[in-house]
Amino acid sequence: MIVYKTKEEIEIMRESAQILGRAHGEVAKMIAPGIKTIDLDKRAEEFIRDNGGIPSFKGYNGTFPGSLCISVNEQVVHGFPSEYRLQEGDIISVDCGVYYKGFHSDSAYTYAVGEVSEEVKKLLKITKDSLYKGIEKAVLGNRIGDISHAIQSFVEEHSFSVIRELVGHGLGRSLHESPEVPNFGRRGQGPKLKEGMVIAIEPMVNLGKKSVLQEPDGWTIRTSDRKPSAHFEHTVAINNGTCDVLTTFKYIEENYKL
Ligand code: MG
Ligand code: MG
Repeated sequence: MIVYKTKEEIEIMRESAQILGRAHGEVAKMIAPGIKTIDLDKRAEEFIRDNGGIPSFKGYNGTFPGSLCISVNEQVVHGFPSEYRLQEGDIISVDCGVYYKGFHSDSAYTYAVGEVSEEVKKLLKITKDSLYKGIEKAVLGNRIGDISHAIQSFVEEHSFSVIRELVGHGLGRSLHESPEVPNFGRRGQGPKLKEGMVIAIEPMVNLGKKSVLQEPDGWTIRTSDRKPSAHFEHTVAINNGTCDVLTTFKYIEENYKL
């Protein structure tokens, strides 16, 4: 069942998403070779709690250990913050959620650590651009499949591949609600976008083959061919007929440029 949000609820979600955006900005300031990923997690948690929020991911399903999902290089999503120190040439996906006044927000960004190859730079750029191709289609009267198709066709035009096993989602009082928002699919298919729908659009794009597998930790997803993968995510609302992007990369991009 899709839970539609009132205007008031969307405004609370925007507040949640702004705390999240600023938490991402704090993490962005720290991204550099030599930084331990657990220290990124500590900073994000501290910032979220100092601003009246709760990290959505911490303790998720009773077991997720971090406030951030940290996925490096061939890791796609759901990686654990750890003692690992970032190295020049890594890429790192930082995914974070904030629970505030009863509502969740969710967003992710993938960084290059120092210099990366041209091919990897292109992967990051195309994945981020594909998110905005999806957002362009998230308007009243379209269907979820229009978003999915826009992302898939853009990614595949650039010869990268889209993961099938993981998808975007509705969110609100729960972190994961209906509908699913796949990054692949057909135009005109799936649920209709209606006023008050709030969804997380989150392309996960592989440099190599599309297949992924789960590590024995029960969480971390990595590419089967161990080639790098990128992930960008915004929480958006269908509000006044248009796509209202609630989360923001503004605070990240004040501190980081590819
Ligand atoms: Mg999500
Ligand atoms: Mg996320």
